[in-house]
Amino acid sequence: PKAKKEEQLAGRVRVVVRLRPRTADETKGDKDFADVVFMEPEIKRVTLKKNHWETDSYFYDTVLPDHASQKKVYETVTQPVVESVLQGYNGTVLAYGQTGTGKTHTLANIGLEDKSARGMMVRAVEDLFEKAVADTEYNTSIKLSYVQMYMEMVQDLLRPENANITLYEDPDTKEVTMPGVEEVMLDNLDHCISIMEVASKSRVVANQKMNASSSRSHALMILTVLRQPKDADKGENIVLLRRGKLYLADLAGSERINKSGSAGHMADEAKSINLSLTTLGKCINCLTEPNPGHIPYRESKLTRLLKDSFGGSARTSLIITIGPNPEHFQETLSTLQFGQRAL
Ligand code: ADP
Ligand code: MG
Repeated sequence: PKAKKEEQLAGRVRVVVRLRPRTADETKGDKDFADVVFMEPEIKRVTLKKNHWETDSYFYDTVLPDHASQKKVYETVTQPVVESVLQGYNGTVLAYGQTGTGKTHTLANIGLEDKSARGMMVRAVEDLFEKAVADTEYNTSIKLSYVQMYMEMVQDLLRPENANITLYEDPDTKEVTMPGVEEVMLDNLDHCISIMEVASKSRVVANQKMNASSSRSHALMILTVLRQPKDADKGENIVLLRRGKLYLADLAGSERINKSGSAGHMADEAKSINLSLTTLGKCINCLTEPNPGHIPYRESKLTRLLKDSFGGSARTSLIITIGPNPEHFQETLSTLQFGQRAL
């Protein structure tokens, strides 16, 4: 029955919408504003109020209101993907939305002062270690890589001097890998957290050098989980090795970037962000078809890399993040529509 369940969910993208709570600034006196976004978790509906008489409603797999905790987000969105990675499947969790709506908070928050603020990356590793320790049948090892992608350039966040990594597709397995990228065998959760601290600083420095804000690049954590039966060497011929790969992607801001209004570097930057996010959208849309046929993974580096952890037998969750601010009505609408097309 478990395999059956996997089958039903595999191949399709689960879409979850998360609303960011108002910031202190947004609730302050003169900046107080009327609500335009309404979340109804029970019926999985999000309603956007255009004006006094017009509303738009959309349905998703899960609707997370602004008071949803990181724990709740983990349990509903990420844990099922982690479970299937332990079973030997690949999986991806993506955060997509306008800059300032909570993508990094949701995925990459390290939660140094407040553990309850920990995001999906830390929670996934924590969960994997808890399950590995409790596992009586298998020995588990967890490897971590962490890269960022900016303008179709891949940079190793664990070894930032390695700033132009090429993707390699194995002709036999079709798996896309990044030769030369650092892979750290994790000892425990604290080990992972200290690596993430260094990596997030590297990300800031690297982006300053390239004159880019972090909202213009994708950050991708890759966890490779290997499980080997504890009694594998006791005369068994067939060693049942399970290998699953989990991508956790904090995507570049989805806000429309004006290509015409900017020149040179800015225009190139806009073009390449649009390329990777548009291609991602196209691939996700293809997966909604009963017989997907040709999926344009090759059109951007992001989708090429995610290829074998996305669609097919892999499990994918897309977290759409939106904010409550009426000033960003148009961006909120287009983010909701992006999520809608994925269903
Ligand atoms: P993004 O990565 O999409 O640009 P951030 O994750 O940086 O957005 O979030 C913008 C701000 O909002 C940050 O200060 C962050 O701490 C805060 N924030 C986002 N989501 C939440 C949340 N669910 N609860 C509390 N604060 C949040
Ligand atoms: Mg961010």
